[in-house]
Amino acid sequence: MKMDDCIFCKIANGQIPSKTLYEDERFRVILDLGPATKGHALILPKEHSANLYELPDDTAGAVMQLAKKMAYMLREKLHCDGLNLMQNNGATAGQTVEHFHLHIIPRYLDDGQNINFVHGEPSQEELEAVRSEIVGND
Ligand code: AMP
Ligand code: ZN
Repeated sequence: MKMDDCIFCKIANGQIPSKTLYEDERFRVILDLGPATKGHALILPKEHSANLYELPDDTAGAVMQLAKKMAYMLREKLHCDGLNLMQNNGATAGQTVEHFHLHIIPRYLDDGQNINFVHGEPSQEELEAVRSEIVGND
């Protein structure tokens, strides 16, 4: 995709207005237009990367530091009871906008959301097969 056509590039760089919670030279943090819960925010790097694979290492580190800062802000101001970080890569994983973004989702008792996994129950042998597929047998 051409970056000229990227909606999050335009939002991050202020060409399209957004409900901004925080901005610095590298990032803008906005409210999600379709929030899962009150205060659902997105960290957008101003520089375009389609996903985690393309994200420069120093940006990746800075994103997590900013997530921590925003977590404190949201807890203090909205009194959330918990918080999820989520980051989708690829359509199969639910990514709908191809500009890296980190979801910050405040959680409240009885908020009705269900951001949980369906857990498998592999045997030790099955876990070992996966481990060796990833890192080898050495
Ligand atoms: P993902 O599914 O991880 O790609 O997340 C995309 C998120 O961006 C969704 O939660 C959308 O609600 C949100 N979104 C899409 N367009 C906008 C927009 N123009 N401003 C704010 N949030 C948006
Ligand atoms: Zn972009």
